[in-house]
Amino acid sequence: MTSYNPSEFGFATRAIHAGQDPEELTGAVTVPLYQTSTYAQEAIGQHKGFEYARTQNPTRFAWEASIANLEQGNAGFAFGSGMAAVNAVVTLLSAGDHIVCAEDMYGGTFRLFDKVMKRFGLEFSVVDMTSKEAVEAAIIPGKTKMLYTESPTNPMMKLTDLKMLAELAHHHHALLVVDNTFASPYFQKPITLGADIVLHSATKYLGGHSDLVSGVVIAAHENIAQELRFIQNAAGAVPGPFECWLCLRSVKTLAIRMNQHEANAKIIADYCENHPMVIATHYPGLQSHPQHELAKEQMSGFGGMISIELGTLEKAKAFTNAVRLFTLAESLGGVESLVCHPVSMTHGSIPKEQREKLGITDSLVRLSVGIENIDDLLKDIAQALESLH
Ligand SMILES: *Cc1c(COP(=O)(O)O)cnc(C)c1O
Repeated sequence: MTSYNPSEFGFATRAIHAGQDPEELTGAVTVPLYQTSTYAQEAIGQHKGFEYARTQNPTRFAWEASIANLEQGNAGFAFGSGMAAVNAVVTLLSAGDHIVCAEDMYGGTFRLFDKVMKRFGLEFSVVDMTSKEAVEAAIIPGKTKMLYTESPTNPMMKLTDLKMLAELAHHHHALLVVDNTFASPYFQKPITLGADIVLHSATKYLGGHSDLVSGVVIAAHENIAQELRFIQNAAGAVPGPFECWLCLRSVKTLAIRMNQHEANAKIIADYCENHPMVIATHYPGLQSHPQHELAKEQMSGFGGMISIELGTLEKAKAFTNAVRLFTLAESLGGVESLVCHPVSMTHGSIPKEQREKLGITDSLVRLSVGIENIDDLLKDIAQALESLH
C-alpha cells in the first residue's frame, strides 16, 4: 500500500487516497465491497492471509487504514457502532481498574460504564474534566488506568485541554482516551496532542449522511493496537463490509463537508448570539465562548454543532415545531440540518439536578448544522425565532 505521510500530503488528499489504493486485480479505483464471510484456502495452512471475515476483510482493512492515517495513529479498528467501539476500549482494562471520566460525556457511554462495566468490577470517578485539580484529585495512583474524555462535549460544547490531560495521564501511567466524534479528525487530532486512543461514533461526521451506524477506534501505539486487534476479533463487534465501504465513500468528502458545516455554523452562531430571543449561544467559535482560546489552540476549526437557550420549555418546543429545514431528530453530523431537545431526547436519563449543574436547561435546543444553502438555513432559523414572540 502506498504510504501517505501527513508531512507530505494534506488532509483532503489523504482522505481520498490513504488506504484507498486502486485494487490490484482489475485496477478498480474504488475499494471493492468484499461481501463474503470466508475465503477459499489452497491447502491446509495455505491461504492469502484471509481466513474468516470477522478477523479479516479487505474493505474493512481499507477503512481502518484510512481512519488511522487521518487521525495520525498507528492503527485503526472498526466496530459495529460507536458504543461497540467504547466497549472495546474499556475492555482493555481489568476488574479493579479505575477510570476517571467526564461528567458530561455521551449518555450512552455513561450508561455502559455505570450499568454494565461496574458489574464487571471496573471503577469510575465522574469529574469536571475542564478542571486539572478535579482530575488530579480523582486519580488513584497505581489503580487509575484510564482518563476518558470528549471535547467538545454534548450539548454544552465544553472543551477539555487534551494536552494537559495527556500529561496527567502519562504521569500516572494511565491512558488518555478521547471521543473525537464532535470535532472529527479534520478539526482535531487528539493523538498529536498526546492521546493514546481516539474513538468515534462513525454514525456522525465520518459517515456524514445519516445512513449508517458504525464506530472506530484509533490506537496511537503498536502495543495498544495489538491489544485492540485481539479484542476486536475476540469479542467480534465488527461492522459489516458495506458499512466500511460507506465510510470509505464518506470520508473522501470529510474535508469539504466539515468546511461547509463550519462555515454555516459560524454564521448561524453569530446570528443567534445577536438575536434578542436567544438567551445564550454555545459555540466554541464565538469570542464569548469561555474556552475560545483553547479551541483555537487545540482545534483547527470549531465544527458544526451549536446549542442555544430560548428561556422556557414552551419556547424550545415552539422553536422545534416551527423550523422547517431543521429536522427534529436525534444524532448529528449529517449533511442535513437537525434540531434536538436534549432534555427530552438525548439527556432524559440524566437526573434533573445533574443536568442543571451541567447547564442543560429545559429551554436548551441543539443544532447540528448541515451543509444546505446558508441563506435557506438562516431564513428558517429567523422565522422560527420570530414565531416565538
Ligand atoms: C453517538 C455518539 C456515541 C455513540 O455512538 P453510536 O454510533 O450511536 O453507538 C458516542 N459518543 C458520542 C460523542 C456520540 O455522539
